[in-house]
Amino acid sequence: QSHHTVVIAGGGSAGIATAASILGRHPGLDIAIIEPADEHYYQPGWTMVGGGVFEKDETVRPEASVMPKGVTWLKAEVTGFDPENKAVEYADNGRVTYDVLVVAMGNRLAWEEIVGLEETLGRNGVTSNYRYDLAPYTWQLVQQTREGRALFTQPPMPIKCAGAPQKAMYLSCSEWEKRGVLGDIEVEFHNNGAVLFGVADYVPALMEYVERYGIDLNFGSTLTRVDGPAKKAYFATENGEVEREFDMLHVCPPQKGNPIVAASVLANDAGYAEVDQHTLQHVRYPDVFALGDCGSTPNAKTMAAARKQAPVAAVNALARLEGKPLKGNYDGYGSCPLTVERGKIVLAEFGYGGKLLPTFPKWVIDGTKATRAAWTLKVDVLPGIYWHAMLKGREWMARPIGGA
Ligand code: FAD
Repeated sequence: QSHHTVVIAGGGSAGIATAASILGRHPGLDIAIIEPADEHYYQPGWTMVGGGVFEKDETVRPEASVMPKGVTWLKAEVTGFDPENKAVEYADNGRVTYDVLVVAMGNRLAWEEIVGLEETLGRNGVTSNYRYDLAPYTWQLVQQTREGRALFTQPPMPIKCAGAPQKAMYLSCSEWEKRGVLGDIEVEFHNNGAVLFGVADYVPALMEYVERYGIDLNFGSTLTRVDGPAKKAYFATENGEVEREFDMLHVCPPQKGNPIVAASVLANDAGYAEVDQHTLQHVRYPDVFALGDCGSTPNAKTMAAARKQAPVAAVNALARLEGKPLKGNYDGYGSCPLTVERGKIVLAEFGYGGKLLPTFPKWVIDGTKATRAAWTLKVDVLPGIYWHAMLKGREWMARPIGGA
């Protein structure tokens, strides 16, 4: 059994950013990150891979290259939490104790909840930008499709990047429009929810594109089953099961709390680490903090949220170590750059309660409209901000810029 002052469970976007932020404030502090993966992903780039804008290799780096200097990397899977004894268990039979724990293990994509999906993903016209290896298949299908029917699905909330299912749809339509085949393709959006986007201010700009592309919107329609070889998808609706044939099917999988978190005493009933939505401190275990997609905070689960949460978690973890009152206060900021066409984005930025939190004055970027400036931000600026500022704890550079 080893001991570290700070243990961070998960070395994804939120975990690495928090470690870097802590070290920026307290160089040399003893931190261990428990993370089994060899690779670290910039997931917001996958929408762009599916839209033929980025190559998939641009969205991945070796995990070793993003580990902050001086951190101990425990390359293993966390298997359980024992907060009564301030300990974390990891494979195989590892155990580490801490003074402060930060949980940042992401959420879980529940592909298996859709019958027949896993065996046909990547074949038969069935794809998803939610997987690194499948995003290029989305672009391949977009290029191949010249006629027929394309279906895009959205599962129940919460999901990470709630706009991603429709981003894939708009970028596909934009390409088909450019090639003059959009009129021969029936495009349908099947959304479990009742609205196009959760914050009403952004809906008019999105509806303009829905109309322009001739998209058939289906609310309260939930994908339950796929028959890949027969190219049929089945939806649960209030009028019973609906069967749709397709040529292309883009699936956003249902999402759950991280299974290890969900099975632990840290979880709320929904399976997310139960923390205060402003301080990110666990409601029952004050030495534990959680952020990112595994946390219970009711913000939009996005990288942009993780970027704003990381310094809050860092400041409060350090305050806890020093026995001082917690100062960090997260306002629920999240962002969703909706790629409505190739070259334009509706940059949704909002906090708790759907309060608009735009980074820029309206004359630079009006987030409620589709703008070229927001596209430039997403394509040319934000990936660099991610790798060189967010993951390095350079918050002076990352803080004033919205989106991810
Ligand atoms: P992750 O980055 O997923 O990291 C979780 C880490 O925990 C991983 O490294 C994983 O290996 C590790 N882990 C899991 N289980 C264990 C375990 N048992 N033990 C140890 N480690 C474990 N956000 C935006 O802001 N803008 C966007 O445009 C955007 N677009 C997106 C498009 C797509 C297609 C997707 C999939 C996501 C998008 N997001 C976007 C969301 C964003 O990527 C996530 O919200 C963000 O990555 C959350 O960071 P995280 O650290 O909580 O989780």
